[in-house]
Amino acid sequence: VSKLRWFILAFGPIPLVAVSIALCDWLRSEPSGPPSANHVLSGNFLVVRPLVGRAMAGETPQPRSPVAAIDERLAGACRQVAEKLQSRLGAECHSIVRPPFVIAGDLGPEELDDWHQETVGPAARAMAARYFDHAPTEPITILLFSEKSSYDSYAEKLFGDRDVSIYGYYKPQLRTLVMNIATGGGTLVHELTHALADFDFPRLPDWFNEGLASLHEQCRFREDAAGPWIEGLENWRLPGLQKAIRSKRVRALESLVTEDDFRGTHEGLNYAQARYFCLYMQRQGVLEDFYRRFRDHQAADPHGAAAVRAVFPKLTWDELDGKYRDWVLTLKRP
Ligand SMILES: [Zn+2]
Repeated sequence: VSKLRWFILAFGPIPLVAVSIALCDWLRSEPSGPPSANHVLSGNFLVVRPLVGRAMAGETPQPRSPVAAIDERLAGACRQVAEKLQSRLGAECHSIVRPPFVIAGDLGPEELDDWHQETVGPAARAMAARYFDHAPTEPITILLFSEKSSYDSYAEKLFGDRDVSIYGYYKPQLRTLVMNIATGGGTLVHELTHALADFDFPRLPDWFNEGLASLHEQCRFREDAAGPWIEGLENWRLPGLQKAIRSKRVRALESLVTEDDFRGTHEGLNYAQARYFCLYMQRQGVLEDFYRRFRDHQAADPHGAAAVRAVFPKLTWDELDGKYRDWVLTLKRP
């Protein structure tokens, strides 16, 4: 049981709820229905340490450590990105610099800071504590737009992008997240996972890249003696997966992991299966171990199949698959 406070990021359908939750400090379960929106449900969070950077003020001058030099360089790079961005966004938008993040959009500076303090910062700290050994060394830009019309128009104005996802999307070449934040924070943390993982595990295969990112579409943050945690919760992807399991339409886990067809015709079901396999590993207490084993041995284990076997040493693929499916069928949407 957590002694500390929780954030919940939820994925659900109601834009009105999505808008209201950005105001923070309360918890709520995910609305039911089709996933037309997602939202952040937040409480207080104890902020203990920055992902990058240390306060240097008041310290006696000493030779700069490599870490401090990297931090200074990154902070300078973030300020440059923010300046350029601000001139392209125009006067109706604001930007704030919170290395490694530059956060901007048609929200006020306080609202941008709220998204940093309540969602981006806690998620980044928890992922750094749980998985990542390599912190970002380049700025990550997060564009937050308050409604679909401004989101659509800036996506086109800044990048020439049209017909984009209603929630938001990530431009990996530019390390830039573009979000319709009226739909909530679930997609923000999904895309943030991609942006941060890129510095630690750049060649993640699709099944695990999307499984881990979608695990965070609905999640909670907590903090204890072992540091900050980010934990997935049941979400809207569950009923479709349960239905597919019941009607025996779901593929073998080994096939999901080892075959390079995640983006094929069953992409939606692949997302659900991968997400809930990550949740299964998390609830079995092996997800962090899996991540590190996989990352550290990817040259010899490109899909992570050997790492899966290593964290479930007593089970064959068939036995693991059976346990996983039985477990999925026990889950309930909150
Ligand atoms: Zn993704």
